[in-house]
Order: sequence, then structure tokens, then C-alpha cells
Amino acid sequence: SGYHRVLEENRKLYNQVQDLKGSIRVYCRVRPFLSERSSYVSTVEHIEDGNITIGTPSKYGKGCKSFTFNKVFGQSVTQAEVFSDMQPLIRSVLDGYNVCIFAYGQTGSGKTYTMVGPKHLTEENQGVNYRALGDLFVLAERRKDTFRYDVAVQMIEIYNEQVRDLLVIDGSLNVPDASLMPVSSTSDVIDLMNLGQRNRAVGATALNDRSSRSHSCLTVHVQGKDLTSGTILRGCMHLVDLAGSERVNKSEVTGDRLKEAQHINKSLSALGDVIASLSQKNTHVPYRNSKLTQLLQDSLGGQAKTLMFVHISPELDALAETISTLKFADRVATVELGAAQVNK
Ligand code: ADP
Repeated sequence: SGYHRVLEENRKLYNQVQDLKGSIRVYCRVRPFLSERSSYVSTVEHIEDGNITIGTPSKYGKGCKSFTFNKVFGQSVTQAEVFSDMQPLIRSVLDGYNVCIFAYGQTGSGKTYTMVGPKHLTEENQGVNYRALGDLFVLAERRKDTFRYDVAVQMIEIYNEQVRDLLVIDGSLNVPDASLMPVSSTSDVIDLMNLGQRNRAVGATALNDRSSRSHSCLTVHVQGKDLTSGTILRGCMHLVDLAGSERVNKSEVTGDRLKEAQHINKSLSALGDVIASLSQKNTHVPYRNSKLTQLLQDSLGGQAKTLMFVHISPELDALAETISTLKFADRVATVELGAAQVNK
């Protein structure tokens, strides 16, 4: 019966949630080559389970490095497969957990593809943000005899340590309490995401491609009322598309670009420090070193669940950034996972 199905589903979810509670997971995804040139040489030598080996083709010097994460997705993994792996984490929001998912990597490595999708969205290629909300609505509907859920979303952007609300028309700067918009269907979500993306673009006119130099965050607030006991559960999920992690050459940039780069650098290291300190179970967690970590403080650590999803480009000219991304990921990975095994 429907009731037993819900019970069974809750039991399964509960077990998965127990697994994930308080944990920090690290996933890695490799973007495919962007055109079909057979001459492309991938720096990814081998992927197996949670292991990825990066190599430099012998004519460029030898050596390879291996890293171990909770999951590694190769170039041919679909959006649906990536999402299905994240589903238990995302669904736990309906049980009152706080979840943070970060997309990290150099510009062009596929962060936005994972979180949002490509420019021309179809049902097949849409990213985590859409699928997550869609899934929450489906599950809420299935539980409607036992729970009543209210869902609302916020969208903000952090640029140069300034927070901007993306869901208000004139996107005024420095809005600490971003507008909270109730949503009840996937089409509500699509409308708001479109609005947010338009507002994000408006601010970008003065500077070229500012979106890669700002963090954008979609926050989903869920409130569930247990219809039998009247108990209220609150969960929230932050889906964060981080600014590009590439290092800029200090001798080549000045003025605004240098300032942006310094802000990005500072906030990404602050995030790395917070997560590393949580995974090492330190008593002092340095939340206050950036706007991003301050804003997410309540959802990082404690009972909250964090997924750091790093992205890499397979091209040879991205090798230095690829290694630096994987080292970052390795630093934030749980201590239980062990340090990177470096094969020399
Ligand atoms: P980022 O957000 O890290 O700057 P994008 O998500 O914009 O990178 O990806 C760069 C380009 O690569 C885009 O054209 C995007 O559509 C494409 N791309 C990224 N990941 C994939 C993928 N897994 N499959 C197909 N195309 C991808």
C-alpha cells in the first residue's frame, strides 16, 4: 500500500542519511573534449572506482599522480547518472538536514554544466539544480499523506566579497536578506532560475564574463510538517557554482582584474580551510574569513552534509590547473580517505 511504500522509503532514506550525516564527500568529474579532434591527448590516464590518475604524455615529460575521492565521473557520464548519485544527499533536505553542494574548478571545466546545464537546456542535459528541485517536488507529493512541505528558493551572487540578490529586478547590491520566493512546481523554479540568470547577466555588462569570477548560490529552503504529530522539520540546501579557481599571473593583470582575482583566491582558500578544518574535526573552524563561508556557516559542519564536487578539463594545456584542483580536493577530503597517493 501507499503507506507501506512511504515507510519503506523513509527507512531506506534514513539509512542513507545516517551514512552521510556530518560527512564531507568529494566527487570529481572530467569534462569531455569540446570537439571531436582525434589529435587530442587527455591528461586523464585512468579512472577506476574513486581513483583518478593524471599523467603527462611521455613526450612532455614523465610521471603520473593518483588521487582518491568518494567518486570520480569520467567524460562519458551523463547528467542523469551524476544526479542519481547525489540523490540521497539531496533528498535528505526533506528530512530536515542542511546540505551544501559546491562546484569547484577552473573556468571552462564544466561547473555550470553540472549545476545548471549547457546553454540550450533539454530534459536530458539539465543539471543538478533543476533535477534537485524536481525530485524534491516528486518526493513531497509522494509523502503528501504524511507530510506537508513548503519550498522556497533564494538566489544570490558573491562578487568581490559583495552579496547581490539575483531575484529582485534591479539586483541591488549588498542585500544580506535575499528575497525568499515560494515555489511549488518545476516550472516556478525554471522561471526563477531564468530571472536570476538574466539579473546576473545585467550586472555583467561592464565587465566581460563576470559570471566566471563570481560565486552563485541557489538556496532551497524546505519546511515540512508531520501531519500526525504536528512536528515541523526545516532543511536547507545550498547549490553553489563557485568562481573559476584558476590562478592569474600577477605580472599580467592589474586594477579590477587583480582585485577580482585576489577576492576569488581569498574566498576559495577560506572555503578550503573551513572544509579541511571540519574534516579534521578541529574545534576552531575559520568561518569568518570570507563572505561565502560566513553566509553558509549554519550549513557547513555540525549535522550538515557537504559535497565538494571538483571539475577538471582533460586538455594538456590545463594540466597545471588540473593538478592544483585535485590537490585542493585532496586537502578537503575526509581524513579517513587518506592523503593523495603520489606515484613518482
Ligand atoms: P565552467 O562553469 O566551469 O566555466 P562550463 O560549464 O561553462 O564551465 O563548461 C564549459 C563548456 O563545456 C560549455 O560549453 C559546456 O556546455 C561544456 N561542457 C562542460 N561539461 C560538459 C559535459 N559533461 N558534457 C558536455 N559538455 C560539457
